[in-house]
Parts: sequence; C-alpha cells; structure tokens
Amino acid sequence: MGGADPSGDRAGADPAARADELRGRIREAAHRYYVLDDPTVDDAVYDAWVRELEAIEAARPDLVTADSPTRRVGAAVGERFAPHDHRQPMLSLANARGPEELVAWERRLRAVLEQERMADVPVRFVVEPKIDGLAVSLTYADGVLVTGATRGDGVRGEDVTANLRTIGAIPLALRPGGGPVPRLVEVRGEVYLPIAAFAEFNAARAAAGLPTFANPRNAAAGSLRQLDPRLTAERPLSVWIYSVGYAEGLELTRQAETLEWLRAAGFRVNPETVVVDDIAAAQAACEAWEARRGAIDYDIDGAVVKVDDLEQQRRLGAVGRAPRWAIAYKFAPTTATTILREIRVNVGRTGALVPFAVMDPVQVGGVTVRQATLHNQDDIARKDLRVGDTVVVQRAGDVIPQVVAPLVQRRTGTETPFAMPGRCPACGTPAVRPEDEVIWRCPNRSCPAQLVQSIIHFASRGAMDIEGLGEKTATKLFEAGLVRDVADVYDLDEAAVAALEGFKDLSARNLVAGIDASRARPWPRVLSALGIRHVGEITAQAIALVAPSLDALLAASAEDLARAEGVGPVVAEAVTEFLGAETNRSTLERLRAAGLEVRMDLPEGPADGPLTGLSVVVTGALEAMTREEARRAITAAGGRPTDSVSRRTALLVAGREAGSKLEKATRLGVPVLDEETFLAVIEGRAPVPAPPPG
Ligand code: NAD
Repeated sequence: MGGADPSGDRAGADPAARADELRGRIREAAHRYYVLDDPTVDDAVYDAWVRELEAIEAARPDLVTADSPTRRVGAAVGERFAPHDHRQPMLSLANARGPEELVAWERRLRAVLEQERMADVPVRFVVEPKIDGLAVSLTYADGVLVTGATRGDGVRGEDVTANLRTIGAIPLALRPGGGPVPRLVEVRGEVYLPIAAFAEFNAARAAAGLPTFANPRNAAAGSLRQLDPRLTAERPLSVWIYSVGYAEGLELTRQAETLEWLRAAGFRVNPETVVVDDIAAAQAACEAWEARRGAIDYDIDGAVVKVDDLEQQRRLGAVGRAPRWAIAYKFAPTTATTILREIRVNVGRTGALVPFAVMDPVQVGGVTVRQATLHNQDDIARKDLRVGDTVVVQRAGDVIPQVVAPLVQRRTGTETPFAMPGRCPACGTPAVRPEDEVIWRCPNRSCPAQLVQSIIHFASRGAMDIEGLGEKTATKLFEAGLVRDVADVYDLDEAAVAALEGFKDLSARNLVAGIDASRARPWPRVLSALGIRHVGEITAQAIALVAPSLDALLAASAEDLARAEGVGPVVAEAVTEFLGAETNRSTLERLRAAGLEVRMDLPEGPADGPLTGLSVVVTGALEAMTREEARRAITAAGGRPTDSVSRRTALLVAGREAGSKLEKATRLGVPVLDEETFLAVIEGRAPVPAPPPG
C-alpha cells in the first residue's frame, strides 16, 4: 500500500481496457472494505481509481456499464444477516476536494434551481461534521425501534437490529419531546468508535494475536456486524444521527428543523452543526471543522454541506449514487497504512534509549510521515509491533504521528519482533533500567550521544535560542573536539569554526554572533537550557521565582525548591542531584564567567489586580499576543501563569486550536475564556468568571 496508484500503468492505456480494469479493482477493494471490513488499499488510492473511472466514463459515455461502481453505493452485502430493503435508498455523497470544488457545486445547484424556477428563493446551508463511521438506518413504528440496518449497497442492507440495540446512544423508544409520535419514521446516522477506544481496542487485539483494524471506521463496521450481539455490546460504539429518511405522520421543511426534531425525540445529534447563509460561510465552517478535528474524540473525514430547505432538496434530486443537494468537503486523511522497515534507538540527553520507527513514507493528515517515536520497549510489546509489519499510522490535528497497531493479518511470517539493545548504541555502555521505570538508560555521563544532545538542547529555541547551532553543527563541533560541554560554546572563536569542513567565514561569523547574542537570555532560560531532568521551560520559570539567581539556586535545599509551582519531590531531587555534581557546578561557574544572565528581578504583580491570587493557564494560539506576552499580562494583572490544568487552575484562556488542555479544563469545570474575554478581564472591563457550581 502506498500513496500512489501501485499499478503505474494508466498512461496511454486503451480507455475501454482501463475502465474495465478499474471496475475490477474498485469492486474488489469495495468488497474488502464494506463487506470484510479489511481494506487492502489506502482510501486515497481507492478514491483516485474512482475519479479516474469517472473521468473516463464522462469522456466516453459509451463505456459506461449498468453495473459500474460509479453508479452504486457501497457493495452488495453477504448472507450473514437477513437482508433489509430500504424504503428510501441510502445514497453516498459527492466529494469536494477544496474550496473551488465547493463553489462549483453551489454554482451547479443554483443552475438547477433556476430551471426549477426557484432561483429567487434564498439558499441556506447546514454544515455538519462528516463522521467517519458506518451509516445505519433505524426504523421506529409508533415510537418504538423495530428495525436497524446497515446501508449495504444503498438499496438493500443488513438487518442488524439486535446489534444496534446494544448501543446505549440509540433510543429504543422515541421521547415525547419531539411532538406527536409519528406512525413511522426512519432516521439515519453514523455508528462510530471513539478514537481512544479504537487505539486501545486495536492494541489489545494485536497483543492477543487477533487481526486489527486499519481505522476507526472499519473497527466500527466490524464491531457492528458481529453475529453475536454480545460481542457488539462489548465494543464502546456510539452514534450521531443526522437525517430522516422516510416518515409518515411527520412534517418537516428544513434540515435544521429535522435536526431539532431528532434531538427532541431523544437522538444524539451533533451539537456543533451550523446553519449559514452563503457558500463562503459554509466553506469557513468546513475549515473550522478541519482545524479542530484533532481536538475531538471521534474521527471525521470531512464536513457535509447540505441545502437546508427540504423542498429545494427534493427539486435538486440525485445524480447517480449521490444527492445533488449535499456534498462532502473532504479533509486530508489522518490514518494511513505503511510498512515498518526498521526500529532504531535514539539516545536522549538524559541517556534515555528511545526506540523509533522508520517507515516507508506515507501521507497522513496532509504531511509525509517517515518516522515516529515508539516511546519504549513495553509500548512496542503491548502493540506487538514487528519489523516488516504493515502498520497503521495516525496523526490527528497537530498531534505528532503515532504508530497505532500492526495489521496482524498481513503478516507473512518474516516479521521480526524487536529486542532492546543491551548496550547504548552510541557508546556501548551496558544499558540499565531502574526497577520502577519503563525506560532503559545509558548510565554513562560522558556518552557522546548524550553530550551532543545536551548541546542541542542548550542551544534550542525555548532555551538559549542560539541561531545556527542545530543538530548538524552541534555534532560537528563535538566531533572536532571544540565543544565537549555547554560552557565550551562560549569559548568558540570564529577562526576555529571557519576551519571546520563545511563552514565558510560568513557562517562562522553568524554562529559566533548568535552565541554572543545568547548571553542576554534571561535567567529562567539559562536554567532550562541546562537540561536538568524534568526541568523544562515552564518548570524553570517556576524555579527561578524561588531561586532568582545562581547563588540562590546553589544555596537552595530540596524543600526550598519544592515551593515552586509544579515542583514536587522528584523534580526538586533531580535539581539538587544535578547541582551536587562537581562537573555541573564548574560548568555553571564557567557560564557565569562567560557573562550569562545568572540573576533576575522578581516580577511583581499587584496585590489587587483583577487576577490576584488566581492561577491561569493559556492554551492554543492567541491573535493579539504571544504566549510569553500573555504570561506577562497575567502576572501584571496579579495572576500566576501556570502551564498545566488542574483542579487548582482558576481560569483557562483558550486561543485558536486549543486541544487537550481545553478538554481537561472543561472536564474539571474550570472556567474557559476566549481571547476577547481574557483581554476584557485583565483590562478590568469584565468580571472574572466564577467556576460553575458543584
Ligand atoms: P463517503 O463515506 O465518502 O460519504 C457518504 C457517507 O457519509 C454516507 O453514506 C454517510 O454514511 C456518511 N456521513 C457521515 N456524516 C454524515 C452527515 N453528517 N450527513 C450525511 N452523511 C454522513 O462515501 P461512501 O460511499 O460511504 O464511501 C466512500 C469512502 O470509502 C471513500 O472515502 C473511500 O476512500 C472509502 N473506501 C475505501 C476503500 C478502500 O479499499 N480503501 C474501498 C471503498 C471505499
């Protein structure tokens, strides 16, 4: 599997033969996907085949066959379940792969409405998330669930009533809140498996040697299509309902109204569906969904834009296998499959031996992924990853890529399990693993890999931010013997650097200028640059508040340090241990002698500011200020900027693309402010919101 058509044979082929071949491939892939829940090609490849076939058929209508997959929805289902004939066909959706295709769709539908003499009626749109699950149809007679079925080929699905009944989110009877109970109503929605549940479920299956699923959609479909409903009941499936397919005794005129009715009748309807007045606003809503897809716990592969007016929908009708009144605005896929070629081990700056996967390059969530961390040996064993495996790679939103699971069923027997090397791959020292830890470490303090990593860390953005001193340069300087220790950085002279291979006079001058400029970095940055275990940028800022100078730090006890926000006994111990080592003390003295900032004035917040006494966390990107400026603004308003959300957090300021912190704050009932409200609060224009009761 890969990101391109593996056949590579399309150019110059006879269109009739090519169409025939594509139909065969698409049919086979659709069977694997819809019936066996075990696809053998990536969605992108499948979609490319479909598009190519559609293009051939558009150019050569004589080549269209009645059974072409471009005319059909899904695939004919097997005989495991009783068949269910849909009262109204369950169609698929046409795709828009970007703003232009969305606008072109609107133009087409307006042209049709003009022919239908409905051109002067305004067209409004409803934008909904496109849940990447499995479409189901639920029929209620006199308010009671009587049948539940899969979509199947759109005309005939499978009767999976017993399985659907096990899903808690599906009401067995309609609530009276929706008005008079219709005689008969068939509603439609998407059954899905939450992302976290998918990862857990797949890992457990892999560990048990069972076949795993390529994505949450296939896992949901496989779970719903179990012959034994008790197995379905064990899977944490949920559902979003989004339409009414057929009804007797229910009058609805708009999609937005349909959603309201569904909600009142007790269905789980996505709360973030929006109604907009024009296509530009619809596009903005689609983009907003794409931006936040990483922050929600279900997979969405796009947004669906629907014409709101049901009369307009009826006039627009369907073409082929998709309605003309709706379109799926597709996002870049967030899961893909690829081959795990190798597991290598990195040596971190604290000696941690961290295994990582080297894979065949694959497109996931819009970027090419080649490597992903595998965290530690236990994690690899738990997922049962073997070199040579076909693996599922996932990247949700801005999250780093993860290897979710191997596709056990693709194994050929040549895959090899991973064994952690007994020695440090950089210096050969036997690795150690403290009893209560999952990480193997190289205990050699002068391990070259650790030293290079500590130099890279020292110079990195959140630390001393030395322009030009990245991984390559650090390695070169270390190997040339010019820098063995971070303090050596300040002894570098231009001539010595310029003499190194690959350096020109200019790059040497720039590097030394970058080093010079770093002498002015504030004390907390120096502290975080040292690479003390557990002491990152935020913890360093907290420690600097209780130890505002190098002398204060050297004099501080573990108890003194533990007074700092977010510093517990483990961190305090790591700091005192670091300071206890003679070599580290001498490095610090050399840094002092090199003219680094080793003291700071304590910031003073007012005792009566709007945020006095409150701890405030900022997450996501703000428009008006950087993260650092926001922290300063909080301090200036008397508050305490902190990094992690806990029960003690008084407020969370959430900017664009806020992720897990926002979720946690919401869960803990911490009041959340948007940027505008935050600005109003610190400027005293709005009151500080109180936490919700309870
Ligand atoms: P689709 O999944 O692209 O879109 C139609 C479906 O979207 C509907 O049937 C419905 O189930 C769902 N949907 C989700 N949210 C909705 C909402 N709010 N309103 C309305 N519908 C909503 O179309 P499809 O025909 O089910 O399948 C095509 C997809 O399946 C493609 O992405 C294709 O890549 C993939 N596929 C892959 C393979 C493979 O071998 N990899 C094979 C077949 C299909």
